Amino acid sequence: MSLEELVPQGHFYRHLQKVLDLSFVYDLVRESYAMAGRPSIDPVVFFKLQLVMFFEDIRSERLLMRQVADRLSVRWYLGYDFGEPLPDHSSLTRIRTRYGIDVFRRFFEMIVEQCQQAGLVWGKELYADATKIQANAALSSMKPRFAVEAHLANLFSSELEETVQTADGASLQERAACPLAPPHDNDAVVFCTEELLAVAAQTSSEASECHELPSQLHPDLDEATEADLSISNRERQDWIERLGEPARSVTHGTYRRMADFWVSTTDPDATMMNGKTGGSKLGYHTHYVVDGGKARIILAVLVTPSEVMENQPILDLLWRTRFRWKLWPRQFTGDTTYGTAEIITALEQQHIRPYVPLPDFDQRSAFFGQRDFHYDAQRDIYVCPNGAELHVLPSGGNEQFQQYRAKASICNGCSLKSRCTTSNTGRRISRHVAEEAFERVRAFHQTHAYKKAMNKRKVWVEPLFAEAKDWHGMRRFRLRRLWRVNCEALVVATGQNLKRLLQKRGWERRPFPTEAVAMVPPLNWEPDESPRHEMLKGHRRGVAVASLVACGATRTFFEPQMSRFSLVITISITFSSSIIFILNTPLYHLLPAFAYLSLSRSIFAPSSSSAFS
Ligand code: SF4
Repeated sequence: MSLEELVPQGHFYRHLQKVLDLSFVYDLVRESYAMAGRPSIDPVVFFKLQLVMFFEDIRSERLLMRQVADRLSVRWYLGYDFGEPLPDHSSLTRIRTRYGIDVFRRFFEMIVEQCQQAGLVWGKELYADATKIQANAALSSMKPRFAVEAHLANLFSSELEETVQTADGASLQERAACPLAPPHDNDAVVFCTEELLAVAAQTSSEASECHELPSQLHPDLDEATEADLSISNRERQDWIERLGEPARSVTHGTYRRMADFWVSTTDPDATMMNGKTGGSKLGYHTHYVVDGGKARIILAVLVTPSEVMENQPILDLLWRTRFRWKLWPRQFTGDTTYGTAEIITALEQQHIRPYVPLPDFDQRSAFFGQRDFHYDAQRDIYVCPNGAELHVLPSGGNEQFQQYRAKASICNGCSLKSRCTTSNTGRRISRHVAEEAFERVRAFHQTHAYKKAMNKRKVWVEPLFAEAKDWHGMRRFRLRRLWRVNCEALVVATGQNLKRLLQKRGWERRPFPTEAVAMVPPLNWEPDESPRHEMLKGHRRGVAVASLVACGATRTFFEPQMSRFSLVITISITFSSSIIFILNTPLYHLLPAFAYLSLSRSIFAPSSSSAFS
């Protein structure tokens, strides 16, 4: 008897094997292998194992290999016969490190490409959102950053200097200044010796790359433009290139991020975020850019530390999406976080309509808001509700805002002053330099297309996050460090796209094997939102029986000594108990409530009849 005979013909993995040819991965990983040496695990097997992990919601390589050993269908899918030894779980970790994030990203893109070829990508509308994902680290692992950095610098300084000297003399510090160096490598703080060695191994090849920046960006560019472009590219913060790592040296005014002072020794890239049920956790933000077509294909994925706001990497993600898939979207839809001047103006320049809500600052004050003033674009003045003019303050404002002010003498004598300002120097108004763009976006808010896009947004990206969290373990990352959680998120997004592709290619049942671990209801990682309610639900029968017993006892106690006073007490107890139980709504709780009501009626009836008699 062979495996071929044992695996049913209509099995999910047979369909997966038939419709998804993974031979393209050989091209993706060619550079990661030497031509000689010991035979390694087939790269196709590695990616098949990643897909099995996704479809079956398995959260560790060790558990995955146990599943493979027990399951004939998975063995068949991987191409291992009965007697063949399976790869060790530790090999999967080593292979992931060898491939790095680039191979995972290209694997994700190859599946998107197949979705596009299958006609699943529409490309006319793009939707973006981000969700919080808990890191695999506890809050108690947070330590002051300066102390951790000092400790590690002291621990590894001599070792680092010796190890990281490269063939052409470039040190780690020189590499840190190089824009092509991977972000997890140019940290002054390297958190494990394994990564130190990895840095040393990669440095010789990458440092030479750093010193050989592309001499020509485009054949048609003249030398001056090319030099300017090279410099601006080098200085630019490319979120995808840096894997979502924020530049710690960049600060805004006096604001300082919490992550600048505290770092987790378990996962140094995770940062603090607020949990839904209160309290703080360590976590990341996962950003998705999703196509507006019916298949809801995920076109771009990026994981950043949770301190990075949703809007920060979105332009890089959008441009990459647009140019990688050659799309000409006519509109972009996001929530209020994406309604910044930078995003709106950038989208307008590319002739993409920004369908984003804008914060309404006028509502936050009881005084006249900016919309109560009329802006005269020709004269560049505001006219107030009383007809006074507000002129530009030459010395006021900054790069982003221009200040306008009315004359103090007019405002101080104005009958509307109590509704306008408390200042004695005249009412001031700030106007954003991109206010015209904001006005155009506000004009969209009245259109049917905008309302439709906002309604669509609610059911476009959020359910994809829910799917990833509830069915594919994304509620909490199982790996640590930014590049690894990016790999994890890319595998999940790849799998989500693959589910749509499988359906398109003929799999009409649920897109996972029937015996998968994912069939088990997902684990709830969030703390219980209503523990009291859950506790009562667990004791429904007990509560019901106890209530009935109490009903009999109460009746026995009150009947012989019935009086007006005890009657009032009984009814008030009965009424309040009924309310408490009814508010908890489960059916069992209504039973004692009805019992109490019948008791009160039986008590009330004889007492009232005796009162009347
Ligand atoms: S207080 Fe000044 S700006 Fe405000 S309504 Fe009166 S005149 Fe106009």
